[in-house]
Amino acid sequence: PYVEENNEKVKGPVTGSVPKGKEWDDNIGYFIKKRLRVWCRLPNGQWGIGKIQSTSGDEATVSLSSGTVIKVSTEELIPANPDVLEGVDDLIQLSYLNEPSVLHNVKHRYAQDLIYSKAGPVLIAVNPFKDIPIYGNETLTSYKQKAKDSPHVYAIADAAYNEMMRDEKNQSIIISGESGAGKTETAKYAMQYLAALGCGNDGMEYEILQTNCILEAFGNAKTSRNDNSSRFSRVVQLANGERSYHIFYQLCAGAPSTLRDRLNLKMASEYKYLNQSECLVIDGVNDGMKFHKLVEALDIVQIHKEDQEQAFAMLAAVLWLGNISFQVIDNENHVEALADEAVNSAARLLNCSAQDLMLALSSHKIQAGKDSIAKKLTMQQACLAIDRRDALSKFIYADLFEWLVVQINKSFEVGELMITGRSISILDIYGFESFKNNSFEQFCINYANERLQQHFNRHLFKLEQQEYEEDGIDWTKVDFEDNQECLNLFEKKPLGLLSLLDEESNFPNATDLTFANKLKQYLNGNPCFKGERGRAFGVCHYAGEVVYDTNGFLEKNRDPMHSDFIQLLSSCGCQLPKLASPSSQFGGSEPSMQSVGTKFKSQLFKLMHQLEKTTPHFIRCIKPNGKQLPGQYEDDLVSKQLRCCGVLEVVRISRSGYPTRMTHQEFAGRYGFLLLDTNVSQDPLSLSVAVLKNFNVLPEMYQVGYTKVYLRMGQIKLYMAAVIIL
Ligand code: ATP
Ligand code: MG
Repeated sequence: PYVEENNEKVKGPVTGSVPKGKEWDDNIGYFIKKRLRVWCRLPNGQWGIGKIQSTSGDEATVSLSSGTVIKVSTEELIPANPDVLEGVDDLIQLSYLNEPSVLHNVKHRYAQDLIYSKAGPVLIAVNPFKDIPIYGNETLTSYKQKAKDSPHVYAIADAAYNEMMRDEKNQSIIISGESGAGKTETAKYAMQYLAALGCGNDGMEYEILQTNCILEAFGNAKTSRNDNSSRFSRVVQLANGERSYHIFYQLCAGAPSTLRDRLNLKMASEYKYLNQSECLVIDGVNDGMKFHKLVEALDIVQIHKEDQEQAFAMLAAVLWLGNISFQVIDNENHVEALADEAVNSAARLLNCSAQDLMLALSSHKIQAGKDSIAKKLTMQQACLAIDRRDALSKFIYADLFEWLVVQINKSFEVGELMITGRSISILDIYGFESFKNNSFEQFCINYANERLQQHFNRHLFKLEQQEYEEDGIDWTKVDFEDNQECLNLFEKKPLGLLSLLDEESNFPNATDLTFANKLKQYLNGNPCFKGERGRAFGVCHYAGEVVYDTNGFLEKNRDPMHSDFIQLLSSCGCQLPKLASPSSQFGGSEPSMQSVGTKFKSQLFKLMHQLEKTTPHFIRCIKPNGKQLPGQYEDDLVSKQLRCCGVLEVVRISRSGYPTRMTHQEFAGRYGFLLLDTNVSQDPLSLSVAVLKNFNVLPEMYQVGYTKVYLRMGQIKLYMAAVIIL
């Protein structure tokens, strides 16, 4: 309950997430009558808070807090919360749950460096883009000792840990948000907390945290949205102003001279893979120093010096591969790799002969009966030669990354963490992406987010409602956006986006345009599909409509790693198979024939399957501005993100729901002894009801279902804990 400005209570909270068309609610009549604070849309599209001065017909005169007076249609007025609720910890506490109120609350907190808020069970984290003193040992200890309970990533990590121990169930912390929203930083703080809890003083904590430095060097890159973006596949092609993985620049800048000589290493500016984007440095980052930190971290996680050097050799090989060029060698227009420093260096680093490497790059194998014949590529196929070179580079890099992860995991195989056999998974996953030009990468990313959104929905909405219904308690159903239809559009066989893409990828004569036409032919009736002009098509995602350009879809979907490369590399004594993990494609086993899209889908299913077995904890990271700057909060950008992740609905459900629930047995077992009246029948149900009545828990604050007792937020604290302490 809250204190209303004029001590009168307004009838019930306003439900309704605003942007669903009708922004009007019965309560607004009361607001108009009482001249209470309201939100209204300003001509510039932003929300302004003010008081209603007068109304005439459908028009209200509102005096804004800025001093201006405007006239707006009463239909566009939205109730604002009283002053006392300014900046509450948990949005659940707001009396009026509409978009401007939620937005304002988060903004108000952000201005005081309170970057975390709760939306019921979900933690909202707004990126501060500056260091704020809310991390480190002192804060960590206060959360550990429960001296602090304000919203924080530490509190989420603590809850995950406690629930794992209490319920003996694996947990997951699912962190999502746009690029640059702060997922990886948040994940690192969660890891820091768990490492401190789980490791005691044996130094393991430090070791675990060092892995971040390694994984970031090999897995992160500068993009236009984030200087330290977690990325995949960008070894061979970069957009202007962006960089490849940090490790390449670190190696070029920081390698000691003996290593430079052995790898024939040049400056980053001399490699085509790195200089194509005209961006070699990041403001405020010293790559050379980072290289030394990286080597320290590799030492700490006990990766042998020889293996480290081998890994650096593979990186140098990739860089040299990028410098290989092709020339016409005969009058039949056949092309061949130029036998220059690039070919020689790459071959030497890969430990194969320059001849073999040149042949593999400039020819392709054609199956003739049981035999295969190597056929030289012609000038018309020069692109193919470049594709083959790039495919090889990507393959080597991917394999190296996989090897690195295996090595890191190996170094933690012993230790206390493994003994319990339980785990907390932290998922830091790229968020929904919608750019001016969206390609196959966005298609995959957004598909994955669609699946994650369903997981989120299922847990927060479906399970909650299902449980209430099944246990027969009185409950008003809350509608939420179900995205099953959109998932069907992607996954349905044979007429779904992924199947149709695979089918078209197998036709030798198919083009991106024939693919786009096929989609339009088969999917036009689907409500989540939008046929667009030419090569484009649109998908109505939970977070909004995205238009994809099919340019390059077929090529990106076909797995470009050719089996003859694998043969080349494993037969010519390349060092990589020694590094590669047994699970890798490398080292003799047959390459998989799955398309990239299908492989992505099956990996996603595996991930979802794993997540389904855990108790999830959700963190939604929000990017307050597109400039990576502190202190700037763009209302529209934030509200779009809050809307995308369903925060309003979550708050509504959590508030109208019963977050504390116990079986009759549990409840009676825990509190039954408090009853002094010994005449009460001893069955768990009667005992539970007697306890609730005896302590005058208000009827609207609980429900008794067939199997469980349900309590509103805070009831246990309020009644039971007090009684027990007494
Ligand atoms: P991507 O999807 O591109 O990987 P991301 O969501 O993982 O993006 P981060 O790399 O975690 O984003 O954050 C981007 C930058 O924002 C960080 O490099 C850091 O400068 C800043 N940042 C994020 N969270 C915090 C925080 N809690 N405190 C201070 N700065 C932060
Ligand atoms: Mg990241």
